[in-house]
Amino acid sequence: MDEATGQRMFFPLSIDRKAYQLDRGPFDELLFRNAAKFGAETHEEEKVLEVDCRADGVDIVSDRDRYRCRYLIDATGRAALMGKKHKSIDRIENLGKFAVYTHYRNIRAGEEADELFRSGSIHVPVVDIGWLWVIPLSGRRLSVGLVVQKQRPKDCEVEDLLCRYLEASPMLQRLLAGAEQDAPVRVEADFSYSNRSRYGLRHACCGDAAGFLDPVFSSGVFLAFTSAARIADRVHQALSEGREADPDLHAADDQAYLLGFNTMRLFVERFYQSNIVHNLFFEADRNPELKGQIARLLAGDLWVEDNALQRSLLAGRQMTG
Ligand SMILES: Cc1cc2nc3c(=O)[nH]c(=O)nc-3n(C[C@H](O)[C@H](O)[C@H](O)COP(=O)(O)OP(=O)(O)OC[C@H]3O[C@@H](n4cnc5c(N)ncnc54)[C@H](O)[C@@H]3O)c2cc1C
Repeated sequence: MDEATGQRMFFPLSIDRKAYQLDRGPFDELLFRNAAKFGAETHEEEKVLEVDCRADGVDIVSDRDRYRCRYLIDATGRAALMGKKHKSIDRIENLGKFAVYTHYRNIRAGEEADELFRSGSIHVPVVDIGWLWVIPLSGRRLSVGLVVQKQRPKDCEVEDLLCRYLEASPMLQRLLAGAEQDAPVRVEADFSYSNRSRYGLRHACCGDAAGFLDPVFSSGVFLAFTSAARIADRVHQALSEGREADPDLHAADDQAYLLGFNTMRLFVERFYQSNIVHNLFFEADRNPELKGQIARLLAGDLWVEDNALQRSLLAGRQMTG
C-alpha cells in the first residue's frame, strides 16, 4: 500500500502456491527439538569460535569444547561465520540500508484489525524513505518495522524513526490504538549482501550465511530452507559414499541457489525503482497474468521455466505494468 496515495494492491496466493506466517521463536525451537528426536546430537548456548576445514577433516573450537568432524554446514545466519573468515561478503548497496522494528500486543478488536488477523495478510505500506511492514502474529500481536533505503532524516535518532512513521500512518494509528509495545525497538544494520564463497573443502553455507536480501518480499526463510535442504541431501549422500572431501560437491546446487537468490535480488531492486513500484504493483490490476507471476515469486515458486516476469528480470529487461 502507498501511504501517500492510498493506492493498494493485494496478492492472494492460490491453492497450490502457499505462504505461511510463522512466529520464528517457537518454530525454530520445534525444528531444533525435532532434529534431536531424529538422532542429531544438539548443543545449545554454545558458540563456534573457530573452524579449520582441511583435506582430512574439520576442526572446530567453541566457547565450551573442541570437535573434529567430517563436514561443516555453516548456518550461522547474518553472523556469516565462514563468509567473515574468508572475507567473502559483498555488500549489495542499492537495497534497504537498515531496519528498525518492534512488536505490539493486545491489538484491539475492530473491523480492520479483525480482518488482518483473519486473513493473516502482510501489509507493506510504501513511505518516502523506504517501506513499513505490518505482520499479524498469533495472540493478536503485530510485528511492525521500517526498512530505510534512502538517507534518514538527520533530526531523528534511528530508534525514534519507527515511532515517527507509525504516528504518520492513519492505518497504523488505528491498529495500534490502545495496544502495548511487547518488545524493545531493535535495529538491524548492514543489510543485503552475498557471500562469494558459499562452499569449498568440507564446508557449505546455507541461509543467511550464504546471502541476505532486504526482506521486503519475505524471501529469507524460504531461501534458507531450500538452500539447507539441497545442501543436507548432497552432504548426506556424499558422507555415505565417502566423497565429502570433494570441494566441488555443491557446484550444481549452487547454480539453483543463485537462480533463486538473483531472482529475488532483482525483484527487490525493481521494488526500489519508484516507477516500477507504481507500474508493477499498483497498476498490475490491469494485467492478471502479471499479478499471477508476481504472486508466484512471492510464494517462492522460483525454480520454474514458465514465469515470464522472472525470465525478464533475469534477462535485465524493463518491466511494465
Ligand atoms: C529485520 C528483518 C526482517 C525479516 N523479515 C523476514 C520476513 O518477514 N520473512 C522472511 O522469510 N524472512 C525475513 N527475514 C530474514 C530471515 O530472518 C532470515 O533470512 C532467516 O532467519 C535466515 O535463517 P538462517 O537459519 O540462515 O539464520 P538465522 O535464523 O539468523 O539463524 C542463525 C543461527 O545461528 C546462530 N549462530 C550465529 N553465529 C553462531 C556461532 N558462531 N556459533 C553458534 N551459533 C551461531 C544464531 O544464534 C542463530 O540461532 C528478516 C530479516 C531481518 C533482519
